[in-house]
Amino acid sequence: MEVVLAEKYGFCAGVRVADKLVRLAAKKGLSGAILGQVVHNESVEREMADLGFPTVHGLEEARAHEGRIVFSAHGVAPSVRHEAASLGLTAIDTTCKFVTDIHREIDRSLADGCFIAVLGQKGHREVIGYTKDLAEDRHGVFYDLDEVRAFPWEAHPKVKVVFQTTLNAERFADHVAEMRRRVPDLRIADTICYATKENQDALRVLCADPSIDAIVIIGGRHSKNTKELVRIAEEAKRTFFVGTAADLDPAALAGLRKVGVSAGASTPDYDVEAVIEALKAIG
Ligand code: SF4
Repeated sequence: MEVVLAEKYGFCAGVRVADKLVRLAAKKGLSGAILGQVVHNESVEREMADLGFPTVHGLEEARAHEGRIVFSAHGVAPSVRHEAASLGLTAIDTTCKFVTDIHREIDRSLADGCFIAVLGQKGHREVIGYTKDLAEDRHGVFYDLDEVRAFPWEAHPKVKVVFQTTLNAERFADHVAEMRRRVPDLRIADTICYATKENQDALRVLCADPSIDAIVIIGGRHSKNTKELVRIAEEAKRTFFVGTAADLDPAALAGLRKVGVSAGASTPDYDVEAVIEALKAIG
């Protein structure tokens, strides 16, 4: 079996920084707790726990881990930082620079009198970070086009649109067009992350290659950008979505001559390497 790796795949700059900051802290002999996964990847989560930084789901839990809390690359709402400080926790902040920029953009736009329309998933941690502290009547989160169509835009003549960083812009073109029709002063910040775009564009090159029989996407089950890669691949090729090499099913892959491989922005290189080795062995 021939294995072709996408030109761009895997860890983005933001995740590399987050990963490095936690490793540096561990190297200094520190330990702590990570609020939610440091990135949406189960292998990384296990590794971090082994280094002394397990995942927790509430700030209080960090007290049992030297009172140190790590904020993930997805960022948190300002109130979470304040709460951590009031609990006496020390924070290691690995929020991605692009996410921080969006927080600033939202603050500026609110001060400018805009309603904030976040195009993204309501339950996603990055989106929760943007919206948790915002007044109900100053923001909305939209994912389905029907939600945009049903919204009373007439009550909001000045709107700032920001995107969850890991979205596929093309899928939201109709959302933006609908808002353009109905909002007199619509301001759009293209906040989709270049790393996500690059991984998607490189995958599309594999998808367009007629000699490739199938695509393997590697990433965490909760990783939005990985699922987006899966969606793109599925539109063009037979697709296998795996977390690690252990998830590969040799029987299902039997007979494939050429396989394309890509990985989400939170997938560590060692998982990618292991999958490639396993595919070659199956072949
Ligand atoms: S995908 Fe982009 S926004 Fe998200 S952590 Fe990586 S570099 Fe930052």
